[in-house]
Amino acid sequence: MNARARKRILIAGGGIGGLTLALALLRRGFEVEVYEQAQALREVGAGLHVSSNGMLVLAALGVADRAMALAATPRRREIRLWNTGQSWTTFDPGAEANATYGHPHVTMYRPDLLEILAQAVQDAAPTAIRLGRTVVGCTQDASGAVLHFTDGNQARGDVLVGADGIHSVIRRALHGADDATFTGLAVWRGVIPADRLPDDLVRPVAANWIGPGRHVVQYPVRRGELINFGGVVERDDWHSESWTTPGTHADMYRDFTGWHADIRTLIGAIEQPFVWALKLRRPLTQWSRGRITLLGDACHPTLPFLAQGAVMAIEDAFVLARALEVYGSDVVSALRAYEAARQERTARIVEGSAANTRRFHNPALADPSGAQAYVEREFAEPRLRERFDWIYRYDASTVPV
Ligand SMILES: Cc1cc2nc3c(=O)[nH]c(=O)nc-3n(C[C@H](O)[C@H](O)[C@H](O)COP(=O)(O)OP(=O)(O)OC[C@H]3O[C@@H](n4cnc5c(N)ncnc54)[C@H](O)[C@@H]3O)c2cc1C
Repeated sequence: MNARARKRILIAGGGIGGLTLALALLRRGFEVEVYEQAQALREVGAGLHVSSNGMLVLAALGVADRAMALAATPRRREIRLWNTGQSWTTFDPGAEANATYGHPHVTMYRPDLLEILAQAVQDAAPTAIRLGRTVVGCTQDASGAVLHFTDGNQARGDVLVGADGIHSVIRRALHGADDATFTGLAVWRGVIPADRLPDDLVRPVAANWIGPGRHVVQYPVRRGELINFGGVVERDDWHSESWTTPGTHADMYRDFTGWHADIRTLIGAIEQPFVWALKLRRPLTQWSRGRITLLGDACHPTLPFLAQGAVMAIEDAFVLARALEVYGSDVVSALRAYEAARQERTARIVEGSAANTRRFHNPALADPSGAQAYVEREFAEPRLRERFDWIYRYDASTVPV
């Protein structure tokens, strides 16, 4: 057994970021233990975009084919106006992604992606994922890092990674309480079986409906069998950040009063809508301490308006695994190199996502003539390329560490 194989990496959290890291490390011969609080691996029933920069990592890990088999590949992206439904086709990484960025841009049902990652981890190391293990803290000394669990037990490894999401216990242990502030935005989500909708609402298109003070994303997932709905509204009376709090149809309809009939049809077809508040956190200036670091939402939670939160966790995971391989037994330098490689990019995503709130909810969208000029300016191809090219072009497999 070589030195690298003997390194044991502990991962707190078995979400998209934690499982991608586990897989990337197992592929490099590390010993991995993932501690997940849930009794069964599960994801919120919602969709997400996996852009080319994320598919590149899934391909490098050998799971892109499985992802493609379950994904949807929207043929184009549309901006649609909230009240008239007028549509504009925008710069379209959907159709062009392979040619331009070398990998497709897909939309997936989150539980499908988690299942693919979990299966690949289990195939490589059947006992790596430990369920029902809630982390309450961590400590470290000169030779290792220790995870502490609610039942008083501990696990010891060479490196510890907090991949425990937006309310990260590991982040709090390293850096203290965060500075979450409510954005004044609430998100509605629902997933709709396509066979419950009229044909014109199940097109292979990723639509972004924009209007004053609110917007809606609508796109197919799971080979087009499900339609994802995400609606963001400015309202100051909703403060729960849980992704699993149910809402009511009546409340949801009220939030989209005056919106196009398609939106109201989609709302009516959602079996159970969920609603949560979006909060903003300043990106941390330092992620790691000694042998302990963070990835994904644990260190750079973002508003979802560039559709890059999960993809950033996927990129983090791959770059971190590469750094641990490159630096061998000097794990502290490995964590520093990982952080240096990832900090600027992820902070830029956090800032760009927040800036999109103003873009999607602009008052100029209130009337169709103002909207026409606004959309033609803000969503013109050169401006979109400037906003997205640097995101989709990134290669986590070659970026220097
Ligand atoms: C509305 C919305 C839409 C989005 N759309 C997109 C999109 O299109 N594309 C995209 O890339 N991203 C999208 N995102 C962002 C993305 O969902 C997150 O950034 C991503 O899930 C982060 O992954 P993670 O692994 O860091 O954290 P999580 O997915 O939150 O995983 C954390 C894991 O840690 C576990 N855990 C937490 N605490 C403990 C503990 N104490 N002990 C043990 N285990 C613990 C949790 O149970 C969970 O399994 C969206 C987010 C939202 C809210």
